[in-house]
Amino acid sequence: MDCKGVLFARYDLDQAAQRFSKHALVSRVRNMWRYRELLPVRDESNIVTLGEGYTSILPLTRVGGKVGLKELFMKDDGLIPTGTFKARGMAAAISRCVELGVGKVAVATAGNAGAAMAAYASRAGIESYVYMPKDTPEPIRRECEVYGARVTLVDGTIADAGKRVDELSLRNNWMTLSTMNEPYRVEGKKTMGFEIAEQFEWRTPDVVVYPTGGGTGIVGMWKAFEELEKIGWINQKRPRFVAVQSSGCAPVVKAFQEGKESCEFWHDASTVAAGLRVPKAYGDYLILRAIRESHGTAIAVSDKEILNAMKELARTEGVCVCPEGAATYACLPKLQDDGFLDKDEQVLLYNTGIGILYPDLIK
Ligand SMILES: *Cc1c(COP(=O)(O)O)cnc(C)c1O
Repeated sequence: MDCKGVLFARYDLDQAAQRFSKHALVSRVRNMWRYRELLPVRDESNIVTLGEGYTSILPLTRVGGKVGLKELFMKDDGLIPTGTFKARGMAAAISRCVELGVGKVAVATAGNAGAAMAAYASRAGIESYVYMPKDTPEPIRRECEVYGARVTLVDGTIADAGKRVDELSLRNNWMTLSTMNEPYRVEGKKTMGFEIAEQFEWRTPDVVVYPTGGGTGIVGMWKAFEELEKIGWINQKRPRFVAVQSSGCAPVVKAFQEGKESCEFWHDASTVAAGLRVPKAYGDYLILRAIRESHGTAIAVSDKEILNAMKELARTEGVCVCPEGAATYACLPKLQDDGFLDKDEQVLLYNTGIGILYPDLIK
């Protein structure tokens, strides 16, 4: 790990192509472990699961009509254990910890990764330590505590929490599950890409709009599509990725617009979308690469636009989404002004969590 780069799990894809078939999926339980041949746990008995994954894809016909898109969809990871898609990554990481005999885990988090880690760790009988900014929404902090994590509140952002965790993990022999510090959370997030491909009948939608903080989602989906192509389940067509951030913390958008390969640290990061308050992502170069290779784009929306979008989605479509998820809807008018979207394209918004975790934002 001296290079400070990101490590990935790799598979024997030739063997997977022979042993794994679309047909095998028909009889499998509808959660993320249905793709276990392409997940990092070797012995199934080590899987720690709360039933995460295979979330619904909802057509958004009414708001789609309003913004002039005929085929607008939302994949809704509000309906997942712990209330956010962080469950996917942590289910994979904690399962792998069980397999490797890890007894203590720690994470620096903007909040939701801590709650998900704590839930799976408690189910596995592993001790968990969570470091989060002291202004993390209180329900999320309490969620960590109710699962039995030892929570420490830190002055500053997730970047400051990260420094604490790195120091303490070395000293205490904790396994660090901070974003992209280990290879397994991305593997869990990969299942978002598998599910999208399966749910769209092995063709991918034209555009996937994704609220980007640490970027494990984009990097994970990119890896998923690459692996599916290698085993012959999808063709070369990829969705164009749109990374949405908040204008109060938009390092990926800035670097994308400036043609840079990595991000500068974003000072005074502030946004209601806590999951997007990542001043500098560990895997920034991978996020930027996936956006560019997919011919996608990156775009920022204001907190006000996010809050309006939350309200509109709830009132018009009956979905109460988290602020991060709302950002994917909020950016659509801008994407259209930029000529990025065609009205006949299939556009998928990724909702990453449930709105009721943010009671202060839904009054
Ligand atoms: C962590 C988080 C994000 C950002 O996800 P990354 O994959 O790290 O970019 C978005 N939304 C919510 C609700 C989150 O908790």
